Amino acid sequence: MSVTLLANTPNPERVVAAAARLCYAPVGAADLIEGLTGEEVGKLLRTILKSGHLSVCEHATFTFAIEGISRACSHQLVRHRVASYSQQSQRYVKLSKPPMIIPPEVEARPELAAEFIAAAEAAYANYHSLLEAGVEAEDARYLLPQAVETKIVVTMNARELLHLFTLRTCERAQWEIRALAEEMLKLVLPLAPTIFAKAGPACVRGRCPEGKFYCQKPRKLTSDGLIVVDEKTWVYRGQEV
Ligand SMILES: Cc1cc2nc3c(=O)[nH]c(=O)nc-3n(C[C@H](O)[C@H](O)[C@H](O)COP(=O)(O)OP(=O)(O)OC[C@H]3O[C@@H](n4cnc5c(N)ncnc54)[C@H](O)[C@@H]3O)c2cc1C
Repeated sequence: MSVTLLANTPNPERVVAAAARLCYAPVGAADLIEGLTGEEVGKLLRTILKSGHLSVCEHATFTFAIEGISRACSHQLVRHRVASYSQQSQRYVKLSKPPMIIPPEVEARPELAAEFIAAAEAAYANYHSLLEAGVEAEDARYLLPQAVETKIVVTMNARELLHLFTLRTCERAQWEIRALAEEMLKLVLPLAPTIFAKAGPACVRGRCPEGKFYCQKPRKLTSDGLIVVDEKTWVYRGQEV
């Protein structure tokens, strides 16, 4: 999987803070943005994040180029409606041997992996037979498995990203979209460290809402030390909270 940040709102936190301040100021955002100190930006952001008045976070957007994910994963991704998507077309792009994503659980068992690959290759062979017989790619693709790799460009604002990270970095999300969400989080965290400071599954901010589906698994969210210990104790980047 490859996840690259193509573009983002310049100074995303300053823009969001200016929008937040504008709501209560007699002057315009263009004047406000110049005068805001770093400390004021942080304070404004922490206030809006705590209060849940997140609409101002919609002014900061991030565009990702995502490659090497399965169609199963991209289908889960595009269920997030508050975003813009452009996906490689299976109608116009005919791939000679489309790469596929093999779930790690299958890959770890050589006999299953061999069966999986054989089934996918048979599907590809039938796909090509249809193309050779003159069937349009848009119809031949019905034979392709969900394992087939895809490429997609996604633009999301910071509010929707916070929501996506809550749902998709959670242990309940499937491994592939969880890995994707974690990559996206790693890319935006340095650009908007206050907005995304507590981004992650719900359990990193409080109680797990999953009830009987609570995973009971202490897990590490990022390489810089966010560790869920249990429902009551959680450690956020090295600091117990
Ligand atoms: C662990 C897991 C398991 C899942 N299993 C299934 C499954 O079995 N079957 C299935 O179909 N889906 C499943 N999903 C997908 C899930 O139902 C959502 O479609 C997906 O997570 C997108 O999230 P969302 O709908 O909250 O918000 P988004 O589409 O990301 O939108 C963000 C928020 O905007 C608001 N919003 C967006 N559109 C509307 C609207 N039309 N009306 C009102 N408010 C709106 C809501 O507050 C929403 O939470 C699963 C997701 C997860 C994380």
